[in-house]
Amino acid sequence: MRRLVIIGHGMVAQRFVEALFTRGADLFDVTVLAEENRPAYDRVRLSAVFEGASADDLDLGGVPSGVTLKLSCAVTAIDRSAGAVVCADGSVVPYDALVLATGSRPFVPPIEGASLPGVFVYRTLDDLDALRAYVADRVAAGRTAGAVLGGGLLGLEAANALRLLGLRTQVVEFAPRLMPLQVDDGGGAVLKRHITDLGVQVHTGQSCSALIAGADGSVASLAFSGGGMLDADVVVIAAGVRPRDELGALAGLPAGPRGGILVDESCRTEDPRIWAIGECAALALQGPESGRTYGLVAPGYAMAEVAADRLLGGGAVMAEPDTSTKLKLLGVDVAAFGAATGPLDVVYHDGATGVYAKLLLSDDAKTLLGGVLVGDASAYPALRASLGGPLPAPPIALLAGDQDAVRITLPGNAQICSCNGVTKDTIVSAITSGAATDVPAVKACTRAGTTCGSCVPALKQLLNECGVHQPKALCEHFGQSRQELFDIIRVRGVRTFSELIGEYGHGRGCDICKPVVASILASLTNGYVLDGEQASLQDTNDHFLANIQRDGTYSVVPRIPGGEITPEKLIVIGEVAKDFGLYTKITGGQRIDLFGARVEQLPLIWRRLVDAGFESGHAYGKALRTVKSCVGDTWCRYGVQDSVGLAVALELRYRGLRAPHKVKAAVSGCARECAEARSKDFGIIATEAGWNLYVGGNGGFRPRHADLLATDLSTSDLVRTVDRFLMYYVRTADRLQRTASWLEALDGGLGHLREVIIDDRLGLGAELDAAMARHVASYADEWRATLEDPARLERFVSFVNAPQTPDPSITFTTERGQRVPARSGPVPVTLHGRQP
Ligand SMILES: Cc1cc2nc3c(=O)[nH]c(=O)nc-3n(C[C@H](O)[C@H](O)[C@H](O)COP(=O)(O)OP(=O)(O)OC[C@H]3O[C@@H](n4cnc5c(N)ncnc54)[C@H](O)[C@@H]3O)c2cc1C
Repeated sequence: MRRLVIIGHGMVAQRFVEALFTRGADLFDVTVLAEENRPAYDRVRLSAVFEGASADDLDLGGVPSGVTLKLSCAVTAIDRSAGAVVCADGSVVPYDALVLATGSRPFVPPIEGASLPGVFVYRTLDDLDALRAYVADRVAAGRTAGAVLGGGLLGLEAANALRLLGLRTQVVEFAPRLMPLQVDDGGGAVLKRHITDLGVQVHTGQSCSALIAGADGSVASLAFSGGGMLDADVVVIAAGVRPRDELGALAGLPAGPRGGILVDESCRTEDPRIWAIGECAALALQGPESGRTYGLVAPGYAMAEVAADRLLGGGAVMAEPDTSTKLKLLGVDVAAFGAATGPLDVVYHDGATGVYAKLLLSDDAKTLLGGVLVGDASAYPALRASLGGPLPAPPIALLAGDQDAVRITLPGNAQICSCNGVTKDTIVSAITSGAATDVPAVKACTRAGTTCGSCVPALKQLLNECGVHQPKALCEHFGQSRQELFDIIRVRGVRTFSELIGEYGHGRGCDICKPVVASILASLTNGYVLDGEQASLQDTNDHFLANIQRDGTYSVVPRIPGGEITPEKLIVIGEVAKDFGLYTKITGGQRIDLFGARVEQLPLIWRRLVDAGFESGHAYGKALRTVKSCVGDTWCRYGVQDSVGLAVALELRYRGLRAPHKVKAAVSGCARECAEARSKDFGIIATEAGWNLYVGGNGGFRPRHADLLATDLSTSDLVRTVDRFLMYYVRTADRLQRTASWLEALDGGLGHLREVIIDDRLGLGAELDAAMARHVASYADEWRATLEDPARLERFVSFVNAPQTPDPSITFTTERGQRVPARSGPVPVTLHGRQP
């Protein structure tokens, strides 16, 4: 039997072995020599370990039986004349055919201090283990400043990791924008805004000249080339990768112009017995890109298939690899495909929602050449499939996310999964043949969705288009929908996430199911949301009962029911703001936000507010926000009812109600509608005879006027109807579904809603009433509960170790008499050169 040796056991080597065995590899005696101490794992999903995944969760399944896999076995040389490789332990392994799949190494620029303790790279599970252990140690010592060098894909993943590990994180990028290889200036600016909103500071157009050690010899700060410093207790260098071509170079194999082992269209090197695949290979094809390497997994998988075919006597050749990418970075969709420039472009930018899209077109505007999507990449599959062909719909319909425009046009050869090169035709035939009836089966039959997973929504869509009814599985850990989980928790009296996942799900959960279950538990039990295991389920804002802001500080938002406030309470807010140097702003929801509080200040600020009779405004939670009101018949000449009194009563009734999404409401005292009630989740407008109730409205990205549900209700009928409306919504809506889209998706729409909550056709009325009565009776203010319990305060105490002065890297300025973080972007708006 011929001896086949593979060097490296990364993602591409694993795919190569699978491709070989799928085609029938009994011609070979296969040996895999792997430098790492574990078999191939999913490097693309590496960062998932910071969201609860274990190393086993990333495992790619190991090698088939009969293959010899030697772990912790680095190859140090290739003896081409002897046809053998030499390993670091001195062993020699002979070969008849040799495949190099050695991947890349992180590029560490020659910066002074790059080898200090506390400086890491981000490539392997071992790198991440070391990073996690070091950060835990630093955080315990109160050193919480994290910095990442590089604002590309890896840099942003690393920044998210540092953020999840509890560090105040800054990203330094040499280029003038984030992800310079994938997006243009407009997309980079929108991405920067999204990332800054998450509390990660971004410094573009800056380079680091040195990493500087502190008194203990480990890294403590970072110096910019242009002057200035940053605190940096932990640094991750993510400044790109370089192909691991050293074995090829030592063996005299030619390299590509920018490194990498040069291979032809069959993935063979100059030596007919040696092949190279994946990130270590420089592919010589026709055209200006000839001899380049690829830092993405899809081209590597294509090389693995071609090399396997060739070794078994086939004639496969490499086509120009597709470098289109669709990623989710810190929760933000980013996609780039095709050319980076073109004769014409069409740009769509919605500053309010942070959606940016650009299409590059031929000069007759008929052919799509490329594009960039940031914030919403739902049009990506259709657009990518249309590359080089006619536009499937008018550009503006595509860019503005018109789903119908996108959906109808996907041709059969559209590549749905770019990591694994799977087309729509392949997926549709797996579904229509009956082989695949749900997403896991589509994955198993076609491999689509098995690598980065960004095409999974498209797989669901194709199943639906083929008429296969999809159970609305919440995520991969729960086969049930949110509504089904709600019922399970309610009926079975489940009290913890572990209990639920142990009995009704599998795995450890993710950032989809954990907050959903936390919200359901809170809706049903109204317990303290940060007790015990519940704390680990919450997202950042709930975690500190405050909203994180772009400079890493938090905002404090006390409830001001109905927008009504006494002079005494106004004075307390003013005094607190003055004493803690907080910026104050009256919001659209008729309350006062205080910005700029550090974590350890939150309990001190809330102590003062709670003592003055304030309570949490739940600005951080998916819960009732405010019930806005006009001044009503108390003062207004046109008012016909007491809108303020009703708004106050409703806000107090529904405060703290955890829901699938935030809920906003308003009460107007007459038809002039000064409270803008019809743009709210529920809005009430006074009539001579009582109250009209509107539901399912919202402002935001897709504004929707609320629908009139009932007219001239008495106050008690109104309250009962709103109780049922809210409880039915809480019980049946999907995760993160506002009442507007819930109502639009509800079978039977408004008519069905009326039947359930007014006519009580399903007999649910009493149950919904009782659920709301329980909520009202068990409500307790979260901030008071926090202050009263030293154990609960500990979460804030741990941050007492953090520097008591604000982060020195954040500079402040004064705008209109208040202290605000200095902007890196456009200057504040002024008219006639003066601040208004
Ligand atoms: C955090 C992160 C996120 C990523 N996200 C994406 C993404 O979203 N989309 C995407 O397309 N790509 C992504 N990538 C890139 C993707 O992981 C790589 O393209 C892919 O892993 C390349 O596979 P490979 O087998 O060529 O190299 P690798 O997976 O690096 O495997 C090479 C293996 O060879 C071993 N080796 C090297 N030299 C020797 C030797 N002398 N002897 C023995 N063994 C040796 C190495 O230790 C390594 O285990 C990401 C990478 C990282 C690190």
